[in-house]
Amino acid sequence: MSPSAYCSDRPELPQIEPPEESDDFVYEQTEDIHVTGTLVWYYCICPRQAWLMAHQINPDEDDPNIEYGRFLQRFSYSRERKEGTVGSSKIDIYKPASGRMVVAEVKKSSRFLKSATMQTLFYLKQLKERGVEADGEIRIPDEKKRISVVLTDEALQEIQQLEREILVTIQKDMPDPPRKIGWCRNCAYREFCWS
Ligand code: SF4
Repeated sequence: MSPSAYCSDRPELPQIEPPEESDDFVYEQTEDIHVTGTLVWYYCICPRQAWLMAHQINPDEDDPNIEYGRFLQRFSYSRERKEGTVGSSKIDIYKPASGRMVVAEVKKSSRFLKSATMQTLFYLKQLKERGVEADGEIRIPDEKKRISVVLTDEALQEIQQLEREILVTIQKDMPDPPRKIGWCRNCAYREFCWS
């Protein structure tokens, strides 16, 4: 499977081949440049966006899409939700009746389901590396949907490969040039890229 196949939410983009492990490429994350769950989500939609975020070139925080996303994260399921931190990522943790920990990502719609799945897998991987087994869920309150995400051995390989691919991209000196995709209309960087 080619690396970008892990991100089928952006079929318009060309595939990116990371260098072989034996090359002089540094896969290590640094304090400044590292992969987070949010970056996984954005990378699967637009690698340029992930690069900009990784380099602290921040989007318009007042963008209505960002504000609504924040609102959903904050107020959906607030009774059962606990916030946690794993690595550099903030996660939302739920304890259902079964008692097993659930890490849930709340999204506005199911439009970028593959991106949301990879983001959730990233959190599950980070927890597993710290000895915590958890289940994943994508919750879409506006569509009344809950989609289960499981860190199988195959999914673990996919997210590990994707993490390396993201590191290759964000460690570049420059971002990819902007490419028009459907998401640009909603993207908080649209003025930065296209004006
Ligand atoms: S406006 Fe388009 S090209 Fe620019 S970062 Fe957003 S999605 Fe990517």
